[in-house]
Amino acid sequence: AVEFAGVGKRFGAVSVLDGFDLRVTPGEKVAIIGRSGSGKTTILRLLMGLERPTAGKVLVNGQVMWDEPGALDMKRVRAAGERMGFVFQQFNLFPHMTAIENVASGPMYAQRVDRRTAMEEARGLLCRVGLEDKEHAYPAQLSGGQQQRVAIARALAMDPEILLFDEPTSALDPELVGEVLSVIAAVASDSDVTILLVTHEMSFARRVADRVVFCDLGRIVEEGDPAKVLTNPDHERTRAFLDTVL
Ligand code: ATP
Repeated sequence: AVEFAGVGKRFGAVSVLDGFDLRVTPGEKVAIIGRSGSGKTTILRLLMGLERPTAGKVLVNGQVMWDEPGALDMKRVRAAGERMGFVFQQFNLFPHMTAIENVASGPMYAQRVDRRTAMEEARGLLCRVGLEDKEHAYPAQLSGGQQQRVAIARALAMDPEILLFDEPTSALDPELVGEVLSVIAAVASDSDVTILLVTHEMSFARRVADRVVFCDLGRIVEEGDPAKVLTNPDHERTRAFLDTVL
């Protein structure tokens, strides 16, 4: 499980999160929506231990990532990192490795899985994201959508408990968005992995999420069933936001 308890985050004078509370239970798929600059990426970065909260606590499986005086507990961050997979806006593949090597590299180097087993599993994962014929292609030879699907296979290769997606389609040409969303939707529906997904694609949030969380001015304004929040929100601010994106 993932928990934010009274989390505040400022950058100098700018307050990005303020009293942010969120609990995500194991296996739950949560979509985080909100205006640009509302702190969505910061929420994911806090989970990865890349940012330190200025107030409150961030917990992964009951473990606090930063202790009270604000020192990063590297052992815990590393332990949490081993349970998490990330897929970002930019694909961040290793350019000098083929698709299959990109997928196999985590298990081989971080988990010391032998090369043969890692490559076999990578082949299966590339198949799962529809890229069985691109094993030996380098990132530069792949479209953005294909690269992002390799990035998803690479995240899955570490067998994560928690998957974080940060606007995984926003750097893609419109015609490539669908293939990536389909792969994410398939992963969400046939695995019990916990998912936190930051997205601007409202119809996609509705399709994959168990819960939609709308953030504004540093905290959650409204959350709940995607169909309800996205079509008939209780709050005026949610409504105003949806008017700008739908
Ligand atoms: P978008 O939808 O545009 O990606 P977001 O909701 O993900 O936005 P964040 O990236 O979390 O928003 O940023 C929230 C605010 O914090 C922004 O105003 C941003 O400029 C500011 N911010 C983020 N990181 C830093 C930093 N390292 N130093 C200073 N300000 C930062």
